[in-house]
Amino acid sequence: LDMRTPGELEAAERWTAHNYHPLPVVISDAEGAWVTDVDGRRYLDFLAGYSALNFGHRQPDLIAAAHAQLDRLTLTSRAFVHDQFATFCQGLAELCGKELVLPMNTGAEAVETGIKVARKWGYQVKGVPDGQAEIVVADGNFHGRTTTIISFSTDPDARDDFGPYTPGFKIVPYGDLGALEAAVGPNTVAVLLEPIQGEAGVLVPPAGYFAGVRELCTTENVLLIADEIQSGLGRTGKTFAMEHEGVVPDMYLLGKALGGGIVPVSAVAADRSVLGVLKPGEHGSTFGGNPLACAVGTAVVRLLETGEFQQRSAELGARLHDGLNALVGRGVLAVRGRGLWAGVDIDPALMTGRQAVERLAARGVLAKDTHGSTIRLAPPLVVTAEEIDHAVAQLEAIL
Ligand code: PLP
Repeated sequence: LDMRTPGELEAAERWTAHNYHPLPVVISDAEGAWVTDVDGRRYLDFLAGYSALNFGHRQPDLIAAAHAQLDRLTLTSRAFVHDQFATFCQGLAELCGKELVLPMNTGAEAVETGIKVARKWGYQVKGVPDGQAEIVVADGNFHGRTTTIISFSTDPDARDDFGPYTPGFKIVPYGDLGALEAAVGPNTVAVLLEPIQGEAGVLVPPAGYFAGVRELCTTENVLLIADEIQSGLGRTGKTFAMEHEGVVPDMYLLGKALGGGIVPVSAVAADRSVLGVLKPGEHGSTFGGNPLACAVGTAVVRLLETGEFQQRSAELGARLHDGLNALVGRGVLAVRGRGLWAGVDIDPALMTGRQAVERLAARGVLAKDTHGSTIRLAPPLVVTAEEIDHAVAQLEAIL
């Protein structure tokens, strides 16, 4: 990839901690599925902000909602109520089919909130002895970067040298119902799972796995917490990835696309019997549920209510997967995923995942590698059939 913009790249390296290894592309403008760099070169965005940009860059309804709100009111804190709050919470609760919503900002905060609520529910409702609550999670999980969350990561990069670690978590292989059954005990308060493991390489569990998990959780009086932060809000062709399995969790964790690619908005959605355990002073966030976040979040909910984006993801996702599957045996070892979301294992004899995304960027398609030779493709749901074909053709060309 020719480095056309060494000034900005060097300055970025010079002034920040090196906790990311970005592709050498300096973006200045974007619209829909396209971004433009400082030299005017255009790229198809096949990462979409790790699915925070499901509706595309600067989606007109979302930008209008943000502009209108900026001109009226941006922040009150939760010490007062503002006029955007109830509309957003009701809209999101109804989209989720849950009674209550608790808005936060980042995905990691939604996960932390879910953990706290599940523990409190365990002590106050289930009757688990104080300090004994256990949460079962999966091998290969990615739920965020806070100290508690990385305590139950199995990725050494995410975890090593950040201890001491928070206790209270059991790790089982992802997709293995028997292992989960064996791990659940009387002190288990929750099972926390991604419906599809994104960072792990877009891993889809075996059919029927989540139906079994749901049944187990119901029988054992354990909360099923679905981390739909990346998989939810249209990405897989349905509002929630769990719908593919016909499963309704006790708690949804949402983030990323909930902020429309404009502001960080996350939320926990659950019924009163669960979220009702929180009392004033026990949890909060200065920015959580702020007026700008709620105005944008409400506009996101309205877009999802139409079903249009879910349908696009299902239809165009089939096209994406057809195109990618045709490359299996021709430099691609395997393709996984659902809707407009794919993990593609490149033959490591050809190149690493990093080399693959660098070569794709040189051909005007932005994507992200993960673990070894896997690349992830997740375009905004506004992408067109032609743009999908173009991106697949670029992948074929680099192979
Ligand atoms: N959960 C899942 C499934 C994610 O994919 C991510 C982010 O990639 C997170 C949680 C954390 O979200 P955030 O980066 O907003 O804290």
